[in-house]
Amino acid sequence: MRTLIRQATLVTVNARDEVLRDADLAIDGDRIVGVGAAPAGFVPERVLDGRDRIVLPGLVNTHTHLSMTLMRNYADDLAFWPWLMERVKPLEDHLQPEDVRIGARLGLAELIRGGTTCFHDMYFLLDEVADEVASAGVRGRLCGALFDNSGQGEALLRAGVGLHDRWHGKADGRVTVGLGPHSPYLCSPAYLREILHEAERLKCSLHVHVAETEHEVQESRERHGMTPVQLLADLGCFRVPTIAAHAIYVDAADRRLLSEGRVSVAHNPSSNLKLANGIAPVVALQDDGVNVALGTDGAASNNNLNLFEEMHLAALLQKWLRRDATALPARQVLRMATINGAKALGLDAHIGSLEVGKQADVVMLDAARPHLAPRHDPVALLVYSAQAADVCTVLVDGRILLEDHVLRTLDETSLLAAATEQTQQLLQRSGRP
Ligand SMILES: [Zn+2]
Repeated sequence: MRTLIRQATLVTVNARDEVLRDADLAIDGDRIVGVGAAPAGFVPERVLDGRDRIVLPGLVNTHTHLSMTLMRNYADDLAFWPWLMERVKPLEDHLQPEDVRIGARLGLAELIRGGTTCFHDMYFLLDEVADEVASAGVRGRLCGALFDNSGQGEALLRAGVGLHDRWHGKADGRVTVGLGPHSPYLCSPAYLREILHEAERLKCSLHVHVAETEHEVQESRERHGMTPVQLLADLGCFRVPTIAAHAIYVDAADRRLLSEGRVSVAHNPSSNLKLANGIAPVVALQDDGVNVALGTDGAASNNNLNLFEEMHLAALLQKWLRRDATALPARQVLRMATINGAKALGLDAHIGSLEVGKQADVVMLDAARPHLAPRHDPVALLVYSAQAADVCTVLVDGRILLEDHVLRTLDETSLLAAATEQTQQLLQRSGRP
């Protein structure tokens, strides 16, 4: 299918952060073939009107637990440890494949509606998620959650490796698989070494929570004589591409280790604030050469999967943290949500910007709305004024997943009913109605 988006404002997020007005975007099959104007002789089969539309690359969510949508608004206004151990984990202990599948389907609908075309997941029973990703049409890097604090380490690692064997590179390459050591506090050093060995054998990436709370860092110093970042670096984990979620409590030495390793940080401002964990030093990390991307974390601690909200918050928090209103400008925040996320996943040659030759992962936002007028600066508009619900049309690999606010690959009515029903079953099964 050849598609032409005509007369739009294109926010390209290319190396020069170009914004093109009254411009066309041409897509042939799954690729972008023209940015600004269609190539000579291009005859579109489908034309999308771009007037009053802002067109941007699909957003990349680098840290989430997609199926936790079933726990949205279930455990709120709690500190991190009681939230995790007394509320979330008792439900997770009773998860069945169908819970994970329906939770993922609900999450995928929310991602697509909010302009997110690629996400990085860490969870359990991910065959179900992979299957849903394949049919919903988005892009996902799925990482089985791994921990050995409760005697399940070997079984979880076997499941994580099995997922790689079954799903890596499937669904036209949209599904990829990494390994997800939960955190240095739920994984022993010996187990982390074993995971690293498997990651090197499979040539896959790691997805790990790091330095999320002050308590975690103190405990790591007491137990290992090192910070969590030092421990992971010491074990050699940063030899393989790693996405470190949170990185809130990182000192100058930690930041140097992150920049020297093959590490990107996933910044999750909503979750970090809601659990009162803190504010990651994003500007300091970037100044030290660390690639910083954005994530939402799971819907149980956010409580949505809305990257527009994360962009907004990320910018505002750094301004206050640095006592500098010029800190982390909109242009950089938009890069965090797009090309930096692609880079974190090793996909920056393929997605993350509107450039000729890249996969056609494209978001159109309806700017004919009071809160988006006038349009002095389209990038500032995206970061400071836009809402996820302004997204009207979404394409991945040139295929339309959302068209004028209507989901094309998911049946929204039935999935909402299924999510309610499945949540009831999960609560009953876990004895927590
Ligand atoms: Zn998380």
